[in-house]
Amino acid sequence: MMIQNTISALSTPPGIGGIAVIRVSGTEAFSICDKILSRKISDKPSHTAHHAWVLNGAEKLDEVVVTIFRSPKSFTGEDTVEIACHGSVFIQQKILELLMEHGAEAAGPGEFTMRAYLNGKMDLSQAEAVGDLIASEGSAAHKQALHQMRGGFSKEINALRDRLIHFASMVELELDFAEEDVEFANRDQFKALLQEILQVVEGLRESFALGNALKNGVPVAIIGAPNAGKSTLLNALLNEERAIVSEIAGTTRDTIEDRITLGGIRFNFIDTAGIRSTEDAVEKMGIERAFEKAKSASVILLLFDATNTSAQVLEAMKQQILSETDEKKHFILLANKVDSPAFNSEVFEAAFGNEKNLIRISAKNKLNIETLKTKLLNTVNSGKVNSGETIVMNARHHQALTQASASLKSIMHGMNNEVPGDLLAVDIRKTLYHLGEITGQISADDLLHTIFSKFCIGK
Ligand code: GDP
Repeated sequence: MMIQNTISALSTPPGIGGIAVIRVSGTEAFSICDKILSRKISDKPSHTAHHAWVLNGAEKLDEVVVTIFRSPKSFTGEDTVEIACHGSVFIQQKILELLMEHGAEAAGPGEFTMRAYLNGKMDLSQAEAVGDLIASEGSAAHKQALHQMRGGFSKEINALRDRLIHFASMVELELDFAEEDVEFANRDQFKALLQEILQVVEGLRESFALGNALKNGVPVAIIGAPNAGKSTLLNALLNEERAIVSEIAGTTRDTIEDRITLGGIRFNFIDTAGIRSTEDAVEKMGIERAFEKAKSASVILLLFDATNTSAQVLEAMKQQILSETDEKKHFILLANKVDSPAFNSEVFEAAFGNEKNLIRISAKNKLNIETLKTKLLNTVNSGKVNSGETIVMNARHHQALTQASASLKSIMHGMNNEVPGDLLAVDIRKTLYHLGEITGQISADDLLHTIFSKFCIGK
């Protein structure tokens, strides 16, 4: 696709910094920069950096380093100039203004990445991974976005799609010879292929639970009766984190306090404000409120006072939570206050000895908190992150995979019931479409627009 205009934007975060980078991309990138720089760059080779002054007429505005990328060897695939200037907001604005005066246009959100996609530098899932990479917080999310950006995900999908296209063409060919009642597409092989594709699609689809955890963190709820020790436990869990957090300038403690990062994965504690305001907890923290929390959590820490809770009471709580929440939740039972003189080990063992997923802790003395952390990490199948397996992190991909899965099942159902070839062909096309949606082989303009508008300007 031929794009005519040249775009420009600040590619580093807005605000004051040591250095800011302004990116200019498009057919006029070099000639526009020539007009505002103290030296000509349009005749310089690709991938070279040059010292120069940005000039506002005769006046020197800033001393900069200019890096040149010639098409097609640039991020966007177009001629690109990156101007590294001093990071004052005034300088950034002034340089952008000068570029606009000389013919550059302001880039829209994600426009650089969209051009990279349109110029064939990357497919759609890779382009989206650029967004994920920029947004990734934990190391695990970062690793996955990087993997996807390198094309790990698309390759898998494209290989499946190619094989399905082969069969699709056979089935379509049969339609041309409908009178003769021939079968070009071997039904057994076709069924085996469908089975194989379904397995991969389902695997990817299921990986979204982890992918989503990587991207957005794992929501955890601490639920327990008043005085069970919820806020003490929360403090014990957040302890180390807090020391780190307070060193980060400008972070709001209130929001960050409620998270911990384990093995590169973020765990977000839900409604911790509610936990902390414990004065009249009995009234406030009614059981309904606890259910609300449980609904949005994927891990529930059910905390109870081991010195005075009976197995029946705990079981009743568990059942109530289970009956109110539909999805599969991870339950971790925490028997607290095992340090207390009131804790009777024998009575406790008799009541809870057979409970699985139970950890004996002392929130106050930080006993077994590490065990709890390991268990938390185990609730997400985090081993996959390091195995190099593909993990779907993107909600749009997950949706396309879900639709592909449904149409695959529909083909299989049709074949088992010997529906006519033309009906099969419709479902095959649907599957191809949904798989293609992921890598962008199928890409309606509005789809592209939706994807790239989620980026920020300058990306
Ligand atoms: P919450 O109402 O569930 O948030 O409970 P708190 O965290 O406020 O704790 C209630 C009381 O139990 C406080 O007096 C805590 O000091 C005490 N407590 C909490 N955890 C432990 C523990 O592990 N051992 C002992 N002995 N006391 C604890």
